[in-house]
Amino acid sequence: MIRAMRVLVVEDEVPLAKLIRQGLVQDGQLADVAVRGEDALWMAASAPYDVICLDVNLPGIDGFETCRRLRADDVATPILMLTARDGVGDRIMGLDTGADDYLVKPFDFGELLARLRALARRSATTPQPVLRVGDLSLDPASHRVARGDTEIELSSKEVQILEVFMRHPGEVLSRLQVLERAWDASYENRSNIIDVYIRYLRQKIDRPFGVETLETVRGAGYRLRAP
Ligand code: CA
Repeated sequence: MIRAMRVLVVEDEVPLAKLIRQGLVQDGQLADVAVRGEDALWMAASAPYDVICLDVNLPGIDGFETCRRLRADDVATPILMLTARDGVGDRIMGLDTGADDYLVKPFDFGELLARLRALARRSATTPQPVLRVGDLSLDPASHRVARGDTEIELSSKEVQILEVFMRHPGEVLSRLQVLERAWDASYENRSNIIDVYIRYLRQKIDRPFGVETLETVRGAGYRLRAP
């Protein structure tokens, strides 16, 4: 894939989590860390990750349970399980709960990276559902945006920003939250660029239709109004 892959690393051993994150960033990828399975559940539901790297031994709910609940929540993101135990039972259990691959600790970092990339490639070819907020729709695969039956022409950056809002309908998102989700880490963090793009988006998705769904929330950010 040309764009960076976005990885959610779920690991409670902080030094190891940091090491994995650093390695991914050096490889040009984006990575977030969750130290608990419970955190991974809401993080995976609120951001579009390409792949999840999930440790089995976690405080609170363990990796197996986290995996099971992610699948029950319809999170289809590929999951690579990290297990310290090389038992066949663990591997079977991991795959049975919905993991796509597993790696036994201690692992070679190059192998971890290769496996995460392979899983992310696989997910890039799996169809993602079309996002809908009211009569606004966005297809993450084809980048087609429409209001009702009217197709709307947007630049790829405008689509990325709109996708962030459409994944969080009715939620107030700060400029920083939009920046973090729609740009990769190498992008210069200027939050006023968001204001510029919000103006462009309004001119295309709202104004021609006589609606005002992309609202400014004074002092907080922006919100795509949910019906
Ligand atoms: Ca652990």
